[in-house]
Amino acid sequence: MRRTPDEIAKMRKAGRVVAEMHARIRDAIRPGVTTLQLDQVGREVIERNGARSNFLGYHGFPAVICASPNHVIVHGIPNDEPLEDGDIVSIDCGAIIQGYHGDAAHTWPVGAIDAEAEKLLRVTEESLWAGISQMRDGNRISDIGHAVQTVAEGAGYSVVREYVGHAIGTAMHEKPEVPNYGPPGKGPKLRVGNVFAVEPMVNLGAKETQVLPDGWGVVTLDGSLSAHFEHSIAITPDGPEVLTVL
Ligand code: MG
Ligand code: MG
Repeated sequence: MRRTPDEIAKMRKAGRVVAEMHARIRDAIRPGVTTLQLDQVGREVIERNGARSNFLGYHGFPAVICASPNHVIVHGIPNDEPLEDGDIVSIDCGAIIQGYHGDAAHTWPVGAIDAEAEKLLRVTEESLWAGISQMRDGNRISDIGHAVQTVAEGAGYSVVREYVGHAIGTAMHEKPEVPNYGPPGKGPKLRVGNVFAVEPMVNLGAKETQVLPDGWGVVTLDGSLSAHFEHSIAITPDGPEVLTVL
């Protein structure tokens, strides 16, 4: 799908709300805070902006954020367990404005984290930006994932296979999928007006995953730490424009 400049303007508004949710949640993260409290921060930003949540009620999901600490990769349901000093927590959230969607994720440190966790966060975010840099008219969709994988595996980490990025627009999850791995030069050609959510999930250990008994949370099978960074990005004539920023 190629979105018009008018549609992308609406997605920019939705993206700004998502970015504000992340900024306020980042400010609230400290040892002792619960992910349910962080969900409340996200709800307040959505309400204040007259937006709607695309997470709440999605296949029955009960919150406006996914909160995935430590070895939880994605889709964690917020709960009343306090975060602890040294944890990392992945926050994924989205918003709808005038029918158009934004979607972004960040992994944050809780208090002081060790050097290993710090490097995982840095490399995962770098892998996202490497993928974004491939979002140019004429490139192929697998160029994005190849760039992500090269950075993540180059640091000795693994890339999750079962969960991938996606096109985004009037629905949160549109086709095509945007994998975070694979050879370059494959798949549909990228065109001006394409908008994708690129979202590497990178594990410190092995790539295998397991779904928790709640049916939502996804964890690393080996219990290793995992990080998740995501932006919604439009392809413009001048290259990629990240929409989920303030
Ligand atoms: Mg997301
Ligand atoms: Mg997404």
